[in-house]
Amino acid sequence: MGKDLIILGAPGAGKGTLAAGLCPALQIKHISTGDLLREVIASGSALGQELNGYVSSGALVPDELIGRMIKDRLGAEDCKAGVLLDGFPRTIPQAEMLEEILAGLQRPLGAVFYLSVDLERVIRRLVSRVSCQQCGRPYHLVNLPPKASGVCDDCGGQLIQREDDKEETIRKRYATFMEKTRPLIAFYQAKKLLVEVAASDNPQDALNFVLQQPGVQQ
Ligand code: AMP
Repeated sequence: MGKDLIILGAPGAGKGTLAAGLCPALQIKHISTGDLLREVIASGSALGQELNGYVSSGALVPDELIGRMIKDRLGAEDCKAGVLLDGFPRTIPQAEMLEEILAGLQRPLGAVFYLSVDLERVIRRLVSRVSCQQCGRPYHLVNLPPKASGVCDDCGGQLIQREDDKEETIRKRYATFMEKTRPLIAFYQAKKLLVEVAASDNPQDALNFVLQQPGVQQ
């Protein structure tokens, strides 16, 4: 199994939390397109303002824009040992772009971990989700609280709630997932790369399951 992996799942499925445990264990780089986009948005540039229009409404950013961003990122030095893609690809055209990028880099895709979750669980999770403004580490105020209220355990940064984690936008993002991203399950199943990870409120369960998959630790 190659070292480039994908985590696929609806918003709130636990992709970021799984990535936070998996990347240090496998010594691969965590690449979250949502985080990359939020960085550009925070810069306040004209591109950032354009991107914010999509992200704040729960819509997807156009494929070409994301494709260019990922191509630049995957070619960087710190991605050579392998990456865990979180939030990308989100559409069939993006998955095709990824195949082309990885073929150009002569890197086979190792596996696609699909975190299945239903809408009610997503809403329950996301309305209580906060993350560190500085390092991005995710927390859940009930299931995975920080040691000190409002402060990141790792870096001491301030914990904030994402603007798109409001119930109405969560429903829109979930519907976008069902329409645009769900077809990727069959796409990767056909390539024999899909591994389904059952939803659980204990993040350690998903991490243990993934770490036990054949080839993941090599
Ligand atoms: P996430 O942090 O993965 O939940 O992403 C937050 C938002 O960023 C999404 O709701 C989309 O608006 C946008 N986004 C992130 N990744 C992608 C992608 N691969 N393609 C299009 N839009 C994306």
